[in-house]
Amino acid sequence: MSFIQLPFKKTVSTVTLAFMISASPFSVMSYAQTVDAPLTEVETVSDTVQSIIDSAMAGTQGYDITRDLTTEIGARMAGTEAEARARKWTVEKFKEIGLQNVRIEPFSVPGWERGVETAEVISPFPQNLFITALGGSVATPDGGITAEVVYFPTFEDLESAPEGGLDGKIVFISGRMEKAPDGAGYGPANRKRRSGATEAGKRGAAAVVIRSVGTDSHRFPHTGQMRYASDVAPIPIGALSGPDADQLERMLQNQEEVELKLVLTPKSVGDLPSGNVVGEIIGSERPEEIVLISGHLDSWDLGTGAIDDGAGIGISAGAAKVILDAGLKPKRTIRVVAFGAEEIGLKGGFAYVEAHKDNLDNHVLATESDFGAGLIYEVQSGVSEGEDILKAMADAMDIPFAESKTTNGGPDIGPMSDKGVPTMRFQQDGTDYFDLHHTPDDTFDKIDPKEMAQNVAAFATMAWMASEAETDFRANK
Ligand SMILES: [Zn+2]
Repeated sequence: MSFIQLPFKKTVSTVTLAFMISASPFSVMSYAQTVDAPLTEVETVSDTVQSIIDSAMAGTQGYDITRDLTTEIGARMAGTEAEARARKWTVEKFKEIGLQNVRIEPFSVPGWERGVETAEVISPFPQNLFITALGGSVATPDGGITAEVVYFPTFEDLESAPEGGLDGKIVFISGRMEKAPDGAGYGPANRKRRSGATEAGKRGAAAVVIRSVGTDSHRFPHTGQMRYASDVAPIPIGALSGPDADQLERMLQNQEEVELKLVLTPKSVGDLPSGNVVGEIIGSERPEEIVLISGHLDSWDLGTGAIDDGAGIGISAGAAKVILDAGLKPKRTIRVVAFGAEEIGLKGGFAYVEAHKDNLDNHVLATESDFGAGLIYEVQSGVSEGEDILKAMADAMDIPFAESKTTNGGPDIGPMSDKGVPTMRFQQDGTDYFDLHHTPDDTFDKIDPKEMAQNVAAFATMAWMASEAETDFRANK
């Protein structure tokens, strides 16, 4: 149920053509020198762009990579042995598709392991509920916590509750997340996940359960990272599936008191290795200048991390494969990054900025795919110069350009965006993304190969056009 037309076939507009010819004067001769063999009748840059789009739209370059990653590795939680295997797998895959300078840039992350997780209504209506611990949560004491439930319809209700009064209680924070194509409901809904334990802990509570941050009505709870404030004693926190949160709400509406037994036994396991996997198509004329395309390699442990974010790895590496398979030689270096440990706090994004702090000025444009594999319906700009190139990119793909929106491009490239690296974003239709996000239901079967192909085409087009552009997308430099 998409409201977007899939652009199977398009022709490059005369505006794009005129722009590309004037902005980046190419003769047939000089162009021919930059191409190995396969494209024989190429006469203009626009033909190259069209050939990139056609090859991606007709292909399964990204889909295949995502299928193999999620099948051969499965879940890839930050810092785990599975994430380490995924790094090795990605190094091999990057080499296989022809990327150069393939390497792992290591860093370490705080390890956390899920344990037993049960929630049981003791009274008035004894029964089990489906729950999962939030990432980073502490455990319940031996024997679990059995206590009265105190209900807060929303996180804001808890925030505005007076200090104290919740001593020894289990706080239940409900609140539904709204569906939206751009996932706009996630930020507001996520506040209870991030800060619920702190706000309840301040008021004396023993534990917290939240309605999952998600938009489905399946009986899968959604995990995700939480945080503790340094000045509040940590208490355990878990998420109930939507239908189980409904169940608890009905009981609370009808009864004076609901007693819940909660057992969560996750544990912190000290520092563990993680890393970013990097590979490049080295630029033929300006190799030190970098166009960066990316996704994140880690996932939560419940599903196989297909939409979050095996898709982003497939889309970015698949885009590079399209360019490599065509024998094209970009002027600038196209760098593909598979970030590690995104889910537990953008660890890979911050480690990248630290490792490359001396040459962030050479990063001309960056983007990331981390919102599933749904169709792109909008191009958003985070550049201060050269926006006409982004418009030409959007035009080549028949995707509307968002005139008034700005973006930092994606979670892992947020830290480099903060340091001045220009970014852009292909906004995907994520209407159903939060039905699956961080649940056991995040599996490969949810990905539509045609929709994914459009994403690969867009990434390949972006990487190619930015690598050929004269601008560095920065004003006043
Ligand atoms: Zn993600």
